Amino acid sequence: MNLFDLSGKVAIVTGGNGGIGLGMAKGLSDAGATVVLSGRNAAKGDKAAKSLGANASFIVADVTRKAPCEALIAETVARFGRLDILVNNAGTSIRKNPQDYTDAEWHTVMDTNMTSAFHCCTAAYPELLKARGGKIINIGSVMSLFGAPHAAPYAASKGAILQYTRAIATAWAKDNIQCNCVLPGWIDTELTQGARAQVPGLNEAVLLRTPAGRWGEPEDLSGIAVFLASRASDFVTGTGIPCDGGYCARA
Ligand code: NDP
Repeated sequence: MNLFDLSGKVAIVTGGNGGIGLGMAKGLSDAGATVVLSGRNAAKGDKAAKSLGANASFIVADVTRKAPCEALIAETVARFGRLDILVNNAGTSIRKNPQDYTDAEWHTVMDTNMTSAFHCCTAAYPELLKARGGKIINIGSVMSLFGAPHAAPYAASKGAILQYTRAIATAWAKDNIQCNCVLPGWIDTELTQGARAQVPGLNEAVLLRTPAGRWGEPEDLSGIAVFLASRASDFVTGTGIPCDGGYCARA
């Protein structure tokens, strides 16, 4: 199992105080990494960090703005001496017909899901260079590939983050930095509990379309996070990997 050992590595998971981020953070922590969870809600963050144990902590940051992204990276390095793994997971959605979004709503979704990754990756790059390599894991969606009537800015942001991942992967491969995008299927979290409440028939549609016949759980993402954060994936870069119970495989 040494291929997957993350002892001595320092990881940041944005949006790590719940849902998929916490599921991935648990995998990284169990594999030996020191994990910094981030988000806006400090009470939720401190509780989440405690649930992971002594090697986890929480730093508050609203990743829609550049300065908090830079401060998150700087504070992590100040506390733990290095950065090896960055998981850009923070995300949100606003569900409406495409013609009904305000400019502010559009930018909220794009800034949370896409521009945040740009700011965090840009701030992390010099630190990953100092560590002589690193791992960037961006969180896309099956909506990086498909559309949905109630998700225009969400699908746009998730398509963009997949393409952004491919671009930085090609630029930073020479620096031994692997950049990959995970495309979760339908996972049971606060985000999708909101979607289920708003979109009639969503639960049934997900169950019908997902060959595994169930919603994913946040910890279904633990393993792929460890793989993409570890030496096991040193020749894997620029990919978009579904973790979706077979959702993308079904016509
Ligand atoms: P949750 O709503 O459970 O978690 C979202 C996380 O993002 C929270 O930790 C939240 O923390 C954080 N967040 C939201 N806005 C900001 C912000 N401005 N600054 C910092 N942190 C922020 O959702 P999921 O766990 O479901 O989603 C996680 C990621 O997975 C998202 O990128 C989502 O698009 C993606 N995804 C989810 C799927 C699913 O089925 N659940 C499917 C495909 C992709 P706080 O509120 O404290 O800021």
